[in-house]
Amino acid sequence: MAKGKGTFDGKSGGFCCICGREDSQVPFLVQGSRGAICTDCVEQISALMEDAKAVTKGSSKESLRTSLKDEFKLLTPKEIHNYLNQYVIGQDEAKKFLSVAVYNHYKRLLFKSSEDSKELELEKSNVLMVGPTGTGKTLLARSIAKMLKLPFAIVDATVLTEAGYVGEDVESILTRLLQDADYNVEKAQMGIVFIDEIDKVARKSDNPSITRDVSGEGVQQAMLKILEGNIVNVPPQGGRKHPEQKMIAVDTSNILFICGGAFEGIEKKIAQRINTQVVGYGVQSRLGDIDTKDLLKYIAPQDLRAYGLIPELIGRLPVITYLHPLDREALLNILTKPKNALIKQYEYMFKLDGIKLVLEEGVLDFIVDTAIKYNLGARGLRSICEAIMVDAMYDAPSREQKGEFRLTLDYAKEKVAKLTGSMLLK
Ligand code: ADP
Repeated sequence: MAKGKGTFDGKSGGFCCICGREDSQVPFLVQGSRGAICTDCVEQISALMEDAKAVTKGSSKESLRTSLKDEFKLLTPKEIHNYLNQYVIGQDEAKKFLSVAVYNHYKRLLFKSSEDSKELELEKSNVLMVGPTGTGKTLLARSIAKMLKLPFAIVDATVLTEAGYVGEDVESILTRLLQDADYNVEKAQMGIVFIDEIDKVARKSDNPSITRDVSGEGVQQAMLKILEGNIVNVPPQGGRKHPEQKMIAVDTSNILFICGGAFEGIEKKIAQRINTQVVGYGVQSRLGDIDTKDLLKYIAPQDLRAYGLIPELIGRLPVITYLHPLDREALLNILTKPKNALIKQYEYMFKLDGIKLVLEEGVLDFIVDTAIKYNLGARGLRSICEAIMVDAMYDAPSREQKGEFRLTLDYAKEKVAKLTGSMLLK
């Protein structure tokens, strides 16, 4: 092998067999017995090999598992629950189900290579959280992600469509996970995915053959393949797959899927089922035991089926749990109790400007009452607070006198009154 400007043997007209450029277009051509390669390509190949070595070294299943074991003390479900309590108010049932699912997920990952596991395969338990919007489903999933040192991705099911239609392929769910894992496939294969708004891919009509249901049943079918544990070819950049694109094969058997959805109106299906059951058994008195205000707590797979999820998909989501609507007390707590509660955040922001934020009595109640009045839920608390605080935050850094900023009830009312109706009603 030789190198030089032009080919090693002094003949001109050589070209790089990788990039195809001629010797005049490259720094050097290194000539082999079967052809030449330019030094640019040599550099690129060597960089690729370094990356590949690093990935293989850091990501072999065993070493990952060992580092997980070292880094991560297997938290008990109770400890996970306690951790979630720092960030999420109420929703104890959902916390309990999630804690157990996450705990079991870790057990599967950490002890997979043990002797017993050769005889007994621990199956994963994907989770479905049903509850009104803005009650903490995403927050729960996010908080779990914070606690875990595993790759995590949040995907919105509404952007997914059946292959061949405008929208994203279902496989792009895994692209986000790969991205979060810096394209370390082994690591991504142990991650957690939160699929939000899964109710939006419910079948629209009971008769699937009437019209094409591009974003409904087709998407559910495509999701099945991913949820049940398969080798899936994932487009590295997401979006639509196209033939020339190189795919990354991802095994989903150890990925934990947590799905969330509001399933608006599912209470009717639950009530129908409960009624028929009660009447069917002729046990009229049982009706009296049923909490008709919070029917979600009786949710069962049949209701999801009646709502439009296909049975195969329901089968892949064996853990079903629910979230309560947030009452006044919960909203009040959300303002002040969580580790990164809104009010704590404002206090901190003012503190950075050397100002102590003091809330007069009644301000918190007023914020919550406004959120309830305009039906904004927990999500609205932030925009209300923002409207109240914005002028003060604008002035704070340039205030001559630092000291404290007393937020009076009148001040809060004045700022909220200025909010345009459209802002509050959005
Ligand atoms: P969704 O159920 O629609 O996924 P989110 O989890 O996105 O609702 O909630 C929206 C916001 O409302 C959160 O970012 C959080 O600030 C607040 N929030 C909602 N529910 C709770 C809760 N149970 N505890 C604390 N904050 C909450």
